[in-house]
Parts: sequence; C-alpha cells; structure tokens
Amino acid sequence: MESGGEKRRVVVVGGGIAGSLLAKSIQFNADVTLIDPKEYLEITWANLRNMVEPSFAERSVINHRDYLTNGRVVTSAAINITDTEVLTEDGFLIAYDYLVIATGHKDPVPTTKMDRLNQYQAENQKIQSAHSILIVGGGPTGVELAGEIATDFPEKKVTLVHKGSRLLEFIGAKASDKTLSWLRSRKVEVKLEQAVDLNSTSDDSQVYQTSTGESIKVDCHFLCVGKPLASAWLNETTLKTNLDKKGRLMVDEYLRVKGRSNIFAIGDITDIPELKQGYLAQRHALVVAKNLKLLMAGGKESKMSKYGPGSEIALVSLGRKAAVAQFPFTTISGFVPGLLKSRDLFVGRTRKQMGLQP
Ligand SMILES: Cc1cc2nc3c(=O)[nH]c(=O)nc-3n(C[C@H](O)[C@H](O)[C@H](O)COP(=O)(O)OP(=O)(O)OC[C@H]3O[C@@H](n4cnc5c(N)ncnc54)[C@H](O)[C@@H]3O)c2cc1C
Repeated sequence: MESGGEKRRVVVVGGGIAGSLLAKSIQFNADVTLIDPKEYLEITWANLRNMVEPSFAERSVINHRDYLTNGRVVTSAAINITDTEVLTEDGFLIAYDYLVIATGHKDPVPTTKMDRLNQYQAENQKIQSAHSILIVGGGPTGVELAGEIATDFPEKKVTLVHKGSRLLEFIGAKASDKTLSWLRSRKVEVKLEQAVDLNSTSDDSQVYQTSTGESIKVDCHFLCVGKPLASAWLNETTLKTNLDKKGRLMVDEYLRVKGRSNIFAIGDITDIPELKQGYLAQRHALVVAKNLKLLMAGGKESKMSKYGPGSEIALVSLGRKAAVAQFPFTTISGFVPGLLKSRDLFVGRTRKQMGLQP
C-alpha cells in the first residue's frame, strides 16, 4: 500500500506507448494524471497500414479513456516543469510526487481520434487517386509505406528517394540490401544518395528535382523523414541539465533521470544505448511501474528493478506478408519474419497488453 494512506500523485508526460502503458499499469496504485496533446494512444507501427487500409486505424488508435479508467487525462502539451509541478500549455499546474517523462518523438497529429481517422481516409484517397507516387525518405517509415503501397496497389508506380547510401540506416547493411532487393522485385524504383527539393514543384507540374539534377514526375508525394525528439520543451526546465547533446534524458539503471530521486524517463526520449523501439519502450514502462509501486509502498530504493539495454532486434514490415528482421546473429527477410509482424502489426498483442479486446 502507498504510505500514509493517501495515494501518491504520479504525473506521466506523454501518451505514446511508453507513457500509456505505464499510466495503465499503476492506475490502481496511485493518483495518476496522463498529459498528452492528443486524446488517444496511437500504435505507431501500424500507421503505414492505416494509410492503405483506413479501417485498420479503428483498432490502432485508442482513446486514452478506454484503458485509463482510473486516472485523469489532461489533453494539452506540457511546457514547463519545476521540482514539484508540471505546467501545461493551456495553463494548468499539476502537482506531482513522482514524475515520468515519456515524450518520445514530435509528431504534429490531430487532437481527436475522429480527426486522426479522417486524416487516414484522406491519405488513402490521395494514394487511390494517384497513378504515380513519390516517397521521400528511406528510413522505416518510407520503406514500410513503399511496402504497403506496392503490396495493396501493385499497379501504382512508386519511386522512393533516399539521401543516404543505403535504406534503413538505423540497422545493419544486410537488412538494407534485403529490403532494396524486395522493393525492386515489387517494381519500386529506389534512388539512393539523392535529396528531393520539395520546393521545386508547383501543384500544376508535379515535377520534382533531385540533388543530382534528375526530374521525377509523379501525381503526389509523401514525406517520410525522421521525426525530431520531443525534448526541446525541457530546455528551460529544471531538467535542462539532464539532457545529453542529442536532447535525450540521461537515466540510471532504474530508469530514473540521473541525480533525481522522484523523476523517471522511459521510451525513445531516454539515452539508453539501444535501438529506439516500441517493444523496448514497453519494457521500460513495466520496469518503472514496478519501481514506482515499490517506492510508493515504502520499499527500499536498493530493491528497485534494473533495466539492461535491449539487443539489436528490429522488424520492418514489407507489405502484408513479408518483412525484414534483424536479430543479434542473423538478418532474414520474406515470408517467415512477415509471420511475426506484418499481418496484424502486433496491434492485437498491444491492445491486449493495454487491457483491451485484441
Ligand atoms: C515506421 C515505424 C515502424 C516501427 N515499427 C516498430 C515495430 O515494429 N516494433 C517496435 O517495437 N517499434 C517500432 N517502431 C518504433 C516505435 O514506434 C517507437 O519506439 C515508439 O513509438 C516509442 O514510444 P514512446 O512512447 O517513447 O514515444 P512516442 O511514440 O513518440 O510518443 C510520445 C508521446 O508524447 C507526446 N508528447 C510529445 N510532446 C509532449 C509534451 N510536450 N507534453 C505532453 N506530451 C507530449 C506525444 O503526443 C506522444 O503521445 C517503429 C517506428 C516507426 C517510425
């Protein structure tokens, strides 16, 4: 039980997979407030499927209220923190005993689930009505989008332009090679070491210039470049000295912000030396949930659970049936890794973990 009978106030900033799972896990042990600028949790690795099949988003976009039945949701961005309170953009001061920062990456998406679902409908319409599509960026988002379109709309001409020398630079070169072969076998035209000048086109011409002087004529484009970390808001706060040069929060082995006894950080925002992956963010959340329960029950700090960095496992889907998977000692692609991720994109599993119908 929490000491003193009163429930401790835990404020979680960020309603991505890390913050949401943490808030859900401790909601009956603490007085929980979740602060997020949007009303919903989005299973981000389903985003590209949502664009080719908008109804898929009905399961992967989840109102915070659906799983946080015993906590408070504040729909606003956090803009400042002190040693005792969080200030939100719409002017609320929320006091905490324990604070968890989980703001991950910045992604300006609509506030309501309905608007997000409508956005997927509009993106789907854009794909449906185009004969030729340009994808800018060959990281996981660009590759997964190319895979989805090539699978569901094989008649469309897809061109993917990436400024790096290989696709999926966040993982090994073998995964890049296998991905490139798969995309080319599906008639996706991949151009490496070129940047697209998005200002080079007008609505009428739809001809894009690349940095090597090529012209690409398409009906529409999707910008799939990496998103920045959502940590700039911390620059003027009490945690400004806890950010590393990349803007990540430095944490100890208990996932506490270094030097802080009651502030934790989880998910992509942390400086843990591992791939930034949702399944690892989920593990962070469960470790911190355990540690908070222990501390709130008056347990000793020395009994807290430690987190060790995860191994370099990553799965990138290539349409509905195939994927490329990097494991510590091997990289495989095709139907077998596709069985792991690509059919349901872990949506059922994630919903179950959040206490919802798969
Ligand atoms: C294309 C693609 C495919 C992927 N596939 C996989 C996969 O198959 N498996 C896997 O494990 N991982 C995958 N990942 C990685 C995974 O998406 C991330 O690691 C995961 O989303 C990180 O979760 P997070 O909660 O830390 O951050 P985020 O998901 O970035 O969530 C951050 C939250 O913080 C909120 N926020 C931001 N600023 C503020 C603020 N100032 N105040 C309050 N709230 C704020 C945002 O609204 C958001 O809700 C994939 C990523 C991409 C791009």
